[in-house]
Amino acid sequence: MKAVLDHIGIAVKDLGVALAFYRDALGLEIEAPEDVASQHVRAHFVPVGDPGRAAGIPGVSLELLEATSPESPIAKYVEKKGPGLHHITLRVDDIHAAVAQLKARGVRLIDEQPRPGAEGSTIAFVHPAASHGVLIELKQAAPADRVPELSRQQRTEPPHGESRVRRYALGNFELISLCDGFFRLDAGSMFGTVPKPVWEKKVQTDDRNRVTLAMRPLIVRGARTMIIDAGLGDKESSEFHETYGVERRRNLDQTLAEAGLSVEDIDIVLASHLHFDHAGGFTARDAAGRVRPRFPRAQYVARRGEWEDATHPHERNRASYLPDSYVPLADAGVLQLVDDDRTIMPGVRVRHTGGHTMHHQMILIESGGKTAAYVADLMPTAAHAPDAWIMAYDLYPMDTLAAKSAFSREAVEREILVFFDHDPALAAGHLVEHDGKRRVVPALGD
Ligand SMILES: [Zn+2]
Ligand SMILES: [Zn+2]
Repeated sequence: MKAVLDHIGIAVKDLGVALAFYRDALGLEIEAPEDVASQHVRAHFVPVGDPGRAAGIPGVSLELLEATSPESPIAKYVEKKGPGLHHITLRVDDIHAAVAQLKARGVRLIDEQPRPGAEGSTIAFVHPAASHGVLIELKQAAPADRVPELSRQQRTEPPHGESRVRRYALGNFELISLCDGFFRLDAGSMFGTVPKPVWEKKVQTDDRNRVTLAMRPLIVRGARTMIIDAGLGDKESSEFHETYGVERRRNLDQTLAEAGLSVEDIDIVLASHLHFDHAGGFTARDAAGRVRPRFPRAQYVARRGEWEDATHPHERNRASYLPDSYVPLADAGVLQLVDDDRTIMPGVRVRHTGGHTMHHQMILIESGGKTAAYVADLMPTAAHAPDAWIMAYDLYPMDTLAAKSAFSREAVEREILVFFDHDPALAAGHLVEHDGKRRVVPALGD
C-alpha cells in the first residue's frame, strides 16, 4: 500500500500557550478551528507542507488538538501523559483495502472497520502496541466534490474568525448565536493596561496592530422570538469599513436564514447598549434611501440612560455612536425605554453593569433551572475573562472591574453559559477558576 504523511497530531493543554510557540515564535499560519463534537475536540491545523493546504492541495500539517470537555480523549491523554505528540496520520488511497491488508497480517487495530473522520474523510486507528508505541491513524481523504459545506465555508472566513450558527438548548428556550461578520480594533486598546508581551500570547494582530473581533447577535426563541443586539448592519461607507477593517462576507441576514428565521420573525429587539457594533443592525435603508427599523414587526427595547447618552454624545464617546442606528426607531414609535433592571419577556431580564458605558447592561436568560448570560462588552471575548483584562474603551473601568468580578463569581458557582459577543472564534463557554486563575471552557453547541 502507498501511504503518505498527512498530518501530525499534537495534544495541547493550553491553546494560548501553544499558539505563542507555533504561531508567534515559529510564525506559522493557523487555520480556523474545526470542532469534532463527538470527540470533544477542537482541532487547529497548521500547514507545514510545500506548498500544501494553503494552495488548495493536500499537504502536510501539524494538528493542534485541544480538549473541549473533561470527557475528551485528549483531556485524558494530557492528564495521563502531559501535552505532546499524540498521533501520526498516514493518507492512503483505499482505506478499506489498507485495513484488510493489515488484518490479514494480524496487525492489532483500534478500528476494525473504517469510520467517518473530519472534513468528510474516512479513518481507522492502528493500535499503538502494533505500531511500536506511536498511535497511527490511517485516512482516506474525501473526494473533492464531497467535502462538506461547513469546511468549505470555514476556508472563506477571515483568519481566526469563526461564523457558524451555533444552537444551544436552555430549558424551554433555544439560543442561537448568529454572526454579523468581523471588524478590527487596536489591540492595545482592547486590552487596556495589560502589557503587549502578555496579551500578544493570546491574540494575533494584523500589520496595523489590530485584532479581529466578531459581532455575534443572540436569538432567544421561546413562545416569542427575541434578538439581542444586531451587529453593525450595512449602512456604513467603504471609508468606515476601511477604518475598522469591517468584513461582512458572513452577515446577519445570512446567519438568520441559516437559523431558519427572517427579519419578520423577530418580536423583540433588545439592546445591551447603543454602540455601532451592537445597534448598527437595528435599522436599514429602504429602496428610497430612508433609514427604517430593520425588523418590521419588532418592538425595540433599550435602557433610558443609554439612550440619553447616545443622543447627547461627548468627545470621548462620539465615535462609538451612529444616530442612524437608533433615532429612526424613536421616530417610528417602536422604541421602548426602560429605567431599571426588569424582565423584558418571561425568562429574559436585563441587569445593569455600567463600566463600558454608564448604562451598559447584560442580559440574563433563565429556563428549566439553567441560566445563560449575554454579557456584551462586560467581557467581550474569552480573553477578557480575567478581572484585569479591561478595554481602554471603557468609560468607567473600575465599574467594569466590580461588575465583572461579581458576575464571574456567580457564573462559576451557577455554571452560567456565557455568550461572548466579540470573540472571533468562540460563541459561548463556561467560566472556571483554578488556583485563582479564571478561564473559559468552550461550549460549542450544535
Ligand atoms: Zn460597546
Ligand atoms: Zn462592542
